Amino acid sequence: MTQTSHDLFQAAQQCIPGGVNSPVRAFRGVGGDPVFMDHAEGAYFWDVEGKRYIDYVGSWGPMILGHNHPEVRAAVHAQVDKGLGFGAPTAIEVDMAEMVCSLVPGLESVRMTSSGTEAVMTAIRLARGYTGRDKIIKFEGNYHGHSDSLLVKAGSGALTLGQPSSAGIPREVSQDTLVLPYNDLSAVEAMMHQYGFDIATIIVEPVAGNMGCVPPEPGFLEGLRALCDQYECVLIFDEVMTGFRLALGGAQSLYGVRPDLTTFGKIIGGGLPVGAVGGPRDIMEYLAPNGPVYQAGTLSGNPVAMAAGLQTLRLLTAPGFHEQLARQTQKLCAGLAERAEAAGIPMQINQVPAMFGWFFSDEPVRSFDAVMRADSQRYAQFFHGLLARGVYLAPSAYEAGFVSAAHGDAEIAATLDAAEQVLAELKEK
Ligand code: PMP
Repeated sequence: MTQTSHDLFQAAQQCIPGGVNSPVRAFRGVGGDPVFMDHAEGAYFWDVEGKRYIDYVGSWGPMILGHNHPEVRAAVHAQVDKGLGFGAPTAIEVDMAEMVCSLVPGLESVRMTSSGTEAVMTAIRLARGYTGRDKIIKFEGNYHGHSDSLLVKAGSGALTLGQPSSAGIPREVSQDTLVLPYNDLSAVEAMMHQYGFDIATIIVEPVAGNMGCVPPEPGFLEGLRALCDQYECVLIFDEVMTGFRLALGGAQSLYGVRPDLTTFGKIIGGGLPVGAVGGPRDIMEYLAPNGPVYQAGTLSGNPVAMAAGLQTLRLLTAPGFHEQLARQTQKLCAGLAERAEAAGIPMQINQVPAMFGWFFSDEPVRSFDAVMRADSQRYAQFFHGLLARGVYLAPSAYEAGFVSAAHGDAEIAATLDAAEQVLAELKEK
């Protein structure tokens, strides 16, 4: 007998907190029960009841090639045949590090972790160890994983649940995290004027992707770079989401601003659990075993994960890959904008090459406050309308959407047809 998502969710809630292993999956941001997935291929996945969806979440970013890409699968199989992991160095870790350093200008050395959270946690500790300072600056609505110092006014699931700052974080830890409005350079200047030489690092999502998708204002990233130079602190770009997606060299190459440290996750693991932190050798040498900043991981650099990630990165180097991805995303976003306008529903469509954020709002969305003023109830209705028609968006108004290389014109046309129907329904409500 086929298991239903409903039955599985009932069972899951008995033995998993909230029935899920990561909060946003629980659909709290949009209401209703989550859909349990069974298998995936290309632009599609199928739920346990056999229903097919066009997927714009892509495992929250990694599936840039589309699901279950045959060459990634083959690379994983080949590695599995040799062993699942050794806890000793392997050649594929060197290949991966060389690949990442060749793709991202300014990166000379890279350390692998098992998640984005760990990568960012390591980057923060490294920045503190390198500068000998404790305070850090982050931005409201930016999400950098769930480590203590960073779960203050965070985006993503924390925002979806209305708990941007978590319980369980000691005041002494969170009081060294100074939070400022994203895209507000004058607020950063004022803070740096006061505390500049106590600040270890400014960490930023160069394109915010955990409060929907909000691009940087012209001059914002450049301004952060200049302030970090002036006060001799470390600029960290958290490219867990944007890395290898916006361009081969990430947001830093798209905007032409070079951070000191960069964190990666998602695409770099090709769908398996991987993160990484990289930067110039003089900073990276502060990490153990050469330096005094400790960091480690039983499964870090796991060869199966490296195989998936490395093969994914190799395929991204195909000429024109990112341009084509941007074109498809543009078709989708422009098509939706047209349909929203025709339906008389005010929407703001943010698109940064292959990431998008769709807001039900009549004002441009360039700040956290503007994100919060957008209509998240209407997003929930839009989400459910599309879900019923076999299109899967992020189950929260505060997440970015992703197009993959497997999203062809047919998938985009089908998505836009479904969106047109849903917008017509919303109009009547
Ligand atoms: N930084 C950013 C920008 C992210 O988007 C995420 C995850 N969405 C993280 C860090 C944390 O990564 P992980 O979930 O792999 O720990």
